[in-house]
Amino acid sequence: MTRLLLLGGTAEARALADQLVAAGVDVTTSLAGRVADPRLPVGAVRIGGFGGIQGLRAALADYDAVVDATHPFATTMSANAAAACAAADRPLLRLERPGWVQRAGQAWHWADSHAHAGQLAARLGNRPVLTIGRQHLSSYLPALAGAAVVARVVAPPSIGLPPSWSVIRDRGPYALPGELALLRDHGADVIVTKDSGGEYTWPKMLAAEQLGLPVVVVRRPARPAGVPTVNDVERVVAWVLAGD
Ligand code: NAP
Repeated sequence: MTRLLLLGGTAEARALADQLVAAGVDVTTSLAGRVADPRLPVGAVRIGGFGGIQGLRAALADYDAVVDATHPFATTMSANAAAACAAADRPLLRLERPGWVQRAGQAWHWADSHAHAGQLAARLGNRPVLTIGRQHLSSYLPALAGAAVVARVVAPPSIGLPPSWSVIRDRGPYALPGELALLRDHGADVIVTKDSGGEYTWPKMLAAEQLGLPVVVVRRPARPAGVPTVNDVERVVAWVLAGD
């Protein structure tokens, strides 16, 4: 039977683990260990980095195949998985949710980087809500140091933030009424988000649309070339079961 390593940390990875475990697959989900109380999938779980490409390559001795279901912005892990699987001759499949599609009436401004997103947000408003996580907050300091920023994060930021900034700790999935309240309570005039895709964080885009607020959307980074990629859990299950 295939021993599958599932690189996770996403809702899709948990949904995939559900289905694979139900199908009797020997699946181990790997989490980075960034948050203190992660949502745990069913099945076996390992937590913490592998130690770069070489560490992952060594770990692959215990697995027959790998599914990379990490977040669209977790580019280091995906690149390491591509390199380690090529070196260890293990099949690799990428599960990636589609990016969001802008609808008529939504005022989106695409940014090529977090620094660019900060500049766009500064041009569009002075009371931004940042929903880009905590890892890249420093990229926003040059443009937004004096702005009344609310940064919504899962885990506390590791850098000092200006006095005009406040932090809200929360974790999705989010619902439209709460997103409307957040934006209204802060008097937000612009939102910044990554193009995460999926349903969990989409309500903020609807809330911005309802309130007529612009949204700065950070484009997805480039993916490693040559890794077969699918968008839905069922196709991954079929791929895994075909290898059994
Ligand atoms: P990243 O920048 O691509 O990875 C940095 C390092 O963290 C990797 O080199 C690896 O360390 C370790 N790592 C990342 N994902 C791992 C996993 N699933 N299992 C074991 N080690 C992992 O990753 P990130 O953007 O910080 O994301 C970390 C985790 O959070 C991922 O599981 C991702 O799916 C989840 N997540 C990320 C975001 C986001 O916006 N980036 C949003 C929601 C969830 P070693 O080199 O030591 O192996």
